[in-house]
Amino acid sequence: MSGLEDLYREIVLDHYKSPRNRGELESPPATRVEGLNPLCGDEIVIYLDLDGDTVRDIRIGGQGCSISQSSASMMSAAVKGRSLAEVDDLLRAFKAMLNVGDESPDEIPAVKLGELEALRGVMKFPSRIKCATLSWNTLDQAITEATAAR
Ligand code: ZN
Repeated sequence: MSGLEDLYREIVLDHYKSPRNRGELESPPATRVEGLNPLCGDEIVIYLDLDGDTVRDIRIGGQGCSISQSSASMMSAAVKGRSLAEVDDLLRAFKAMLNVGDESPDEIPAVKLGELEALRGVMKFPSRIKCATLSWNTLDQAITEATAAR
């Protein structure tokens, strides 16, 4: 078990030190949404570029603790190139993993979380769960705004 925890810690550190998809996109056409977690001082800015129902590109800005920033990096890598239906499945499965989803166990999408599993340990620290879910909630809002604007 400790081997797995070491691997998870390495993945989280790697995304914190070398964040994926860092930067900005011109908005519009991209949708820009800010998310804040005042409990910890985390700030995430998401630039989302949709091509129909596919995430063509995503960029991440902002600052905050290592959990919030590495989670945002992992999220961006996980959703880029995916359909909105796949993104929704990932979002629901990720929240269910952290016990903050609102679905019954048999409704949880059976998708592979891949590297996102590395944040499973955050569940043991309730005060940090909002750090891990901030980027996903901000992405959810960005999708809502991007699709409402059509
Ligand atoms: Zn935080």
